[in-house]
Amino acid sequence: MVKTTSFQHYLDQLLERFASLQGGAVANYIPELSTVEPDGFGIALVTVDGHVYQAGDSRTAFTIQSISKAFVYGMALEDRGVETVAARMDVEPSGEAFNSISLEPGTGRPRNPMINAGAIVATSLVKGEAAEDRLERILDGLERYTGRRLGINEAVYRSERDTGHRNRAIAHLLRNYDILQGDPESPLDAYFRQCAIEVTARDLALMGAALANDGVNPITAVRALPSPLVPRVLSVMATCGMYDWSGNWIFEVGMPAKSGVGGGIVAVLPGQFGLAVYSPRLDPKGNSLRGIAVCRAMSRDFGMHMLRVSRTTTHSVIRATYTAAEVHSNLLRDERSTRHLRAEGHRALVIELTGELMFVSAEIVSSTVAAAMKDRDWLVLDLTRVTAIDQPGGSLLTALLEELQGHGKGVVVAGSDRHFAFRQAVRTRFHGQERPPRLDDTDMDRALEFVEDRILESAGLPVQDFHAERLEDQPLCRGLDPSELALLAELLTPRKFQAGERVCREGDSADRVYFLKKGRVSASLRLDSKHDHRLGAYAAGWVFGESAFFEGHRRTADIVADTAVELLALDPEALARHPDAAARGLRCRLLANLAELNFERLGRANSEIRVLTR
Ligand code: GLN
Repeated sequence: MVKTTSFQHYLDQLLERFASLQGGAVANYIPELSTVEPDGFGIALVTVDGHVYQAGDSRTAFTIQSISKAFVYGMALEDRGVETVAARMDVEPSGEAFNSISLEPGTGRPRNPMINAGAIVATSLVKGEAAEDRLERILDGLERYTGRRLGINEAVYRSERDTGHRNRAIAHLLRNYDILQGDPESPLDAYFRQCAIEVTARDLALMGAALANDGVNPITAVRALPSPLVPRVLSVMATCGMYDWSGNWIFEVGMPAKSGVGGGIVAVLPGQFGLAVYSPRLDPKGNSLRGIAVCRAMSRDFGMHMLRVSRTTTHSVIRATYTAAEVHSNLLRDERSTRHLRAEGHRALVIELTGELMFVSAEIVSSTVAAAMKDRDWLVLDLTRVTAIDQPGGSLLTALLEELQGHGKGVVVAGSDRHFAFRQAVRTRFHGQERPPRLDDTDMDRALEFVEDRILESAGLPVQDFHAERLEDQPLCRGLDPSELALLAELLTPRKFQAGERVCREGDSADRVYFLKKGRVSASLRLDSKHDHRLGAYAAGWVFGESAFFEGHRRTADIVADTAVELLALDPEALARHPDAAARGLRCRLLANLAELNFERLGRANSEIRVLTR
């Protein structure tokens, strides 16, 4: 295991450790390649967050050679489609050298796109008529990966063109089988140029990072490869990327990779990073000797093998399960509604989820919900703490929603705005259907409030249009006698607000207590110019702004009308100064009621905490 604290330090040490590794030889079958400095050595790693680490000669230019094959194969898939490309080449490891004449008997299809034969065919398939057009397409395509225009090493190109008789023979053989059409010299020339494109280890690591990042360059945010093609390209890299050492490579290092005789290796850990090493001393199979050593060491030190199960998802993602009878939304309702919800709230089940929804964790959710929904009408699914939903997890969840809908259950999903792909999948699946799952609630509290409203409605109780017409309906007025009620009524001033209007603002001095006669208001904290957090809400029959009973207080939250609102405002100072002797009794009553109400709220909060922590 790694003991260093900084990854940069680790890379520097790795470079030092393997710089002494001698042996191997610079490729010389392309004469110009034999002129490179054999001891050049650089490492680069780019994370899917776009963080770049470099050590040694990470900015030295060298020719990309075979590494181009993986990326050009991706371009061929993009330009012609998977099927057309498959008709011209297989994806089976050949177990033979990169320059072998490994063609399928009968059809002449190259075994895979990572050997020269397959690569020349892939080059012939990228868009473009003439060799120059294809090359332009390839340079454009690579620029999306690297974020910069790459150049061609003309000397290396000419050197290979003039001596590449074996590749020329392969191209003509492919022409014989009609796998290449037209003049085989044209794709061959584009292939030679493509191999002579100059890159640095930093470029390659970034290209690898784009593959690791589902096809998107993590620094420029430009898409280099359509998402569905990314696993295709990584597959052939995993099975055929290191020539006839591919099986050993995946066994030992465990990352899709591609090497080139220019001395480069790029390795990809999907979802994590792209890693590149440059060191032109090659082993007998044509792979960079130090490149293999570096990748092997890093994979072992960190346990980076792609088939290593780094995390299991079998632990439950269910954070809390309760019914709407056990936990209420933060909307304070009139007493009758509250009583009804306590009695009938069991009809709605709330499931709060947390962490990552992948296949197995979604399966747990799905079976838990299916078992618990028998006698219920509503499901509220809280995704606000879910960090990710992968495709299998999302599909399973969507199937669950469909099943619930089939049984006539209503579904409300909170926090789906953070999971765009899942939300789209649900929208598509339920398009045009009656009672699709409700996806609009960004917070859990409003989702629960929505379901509570439906439960009240189904019992014929007034919901949005509820009026606390009489003062004695206000819980703060419990036990007031008629003369006290009359005195209070005298002191109240009616006020009206439109939906969306602010009633008070955080920081204002608190000088009025409000009785809510009609409508709903929310108390929220403004987090920044765009976001606020709803602390709670009040429905008709409730009082808010009670801190005004006590001198010198300021508002600690914004109060905003959620609907058209009618209020009765009490000036506590006017009550305190009132000459009538009964006013003192009234004031005491109101304060005593306030204390009692707050105790009730505290008791309710405690029982909810008990449910949420069980
Ligand atoms: N241009 C080289 C060739 O075709 C590429 C081979 C390689 O990098 N393995 O021989």
